[in-house]
Amino acid sequence: MSTAALVLAAGRGERLGAGLPKAFVPLAGVPLVVRALAALAAAPEVDRVVPVVPRGARQRFAALAGTLGRVPKLAEAVEGGAERQDSLRAGLASLPAGVALVAVHDAARALVRPQDVSRVVTAARLHGAALLAVRARDTIKRVRDGLVVATPPRAECWVAQTPQVFRADLLREALAKAEAEGFVGTDDAELVERLGVAVHVVEGHASNVKITEPGDLAVAEAWLAAREERA
Ligand code: C5P
Repeated sequence: MSTAALVLAAGRGERLGAGLPKAFVPLAGVPLVVRALAALAAAPEVDRVVPVVPRGARQRFAALAGTLGRVPKLAEAVEGGAERQDSLRAGLASLPAGVALVAVHDAARALVRPQDVSRVVTAARLHGAALLAVRARDTIKRVRDGLVVATPPRAECWVAQTPQVFRADLLREALAKAEAEGFVGTDDAELVERLGVAVHVVEGHASNVKITEPGDLAVAEAWLAAREERA
């Protein structure tokens, strides 16, 4: 089953500094997006990896990727859009018809482990939709106007990660439905859930952090160092 991974790297978030798009910021010398692409490409179940970069940044991306040696399975970069969902649409539109499974991944999760990518792709092959997630360590509160309105049982609470992997036809249908209804989700699984499709959960790893703020880079560096010590 041909599987493509869309690596969404078109966020302009400048919180990580240096006037660079977030995904182009280096982590121990290697840009987040390049790390994410290489990690996904290292999973044998993934056939191609597609970078979705900010408008006008394709050449800049090519220069970055070029200086770091060849990322295997790398497709031509695609330009994303203003919102993450626009970038997803652009990435999906770029895929050839033969792609049966699509893994959607945030470039900001540069440390995803190839073995976890393999497990979630395998689950999606079987079930049509699957995501990586970790158990919530903290008790989760639903809060409205500063007041707690509910405490879902912690054993039922998980924190969603990426990649999230779907049959291509399901993801296209889910995105079309969301767009027709003006719905914007905070992850891709939410769009597929709205079709009434069951999304399977594959337990991921705590090191698959989303790098958003400068402090997260330090956390990611610590995870990298821990990995290298074990290797
Ligand atoms: O900004 P946020 O943390 O939600 O971004 C999650 C991921 O989606 C990041 O890897 C970012 O580069 C990507 N993104 C995108 N296009 C956008 C906004 C975010 O590809 N317009």
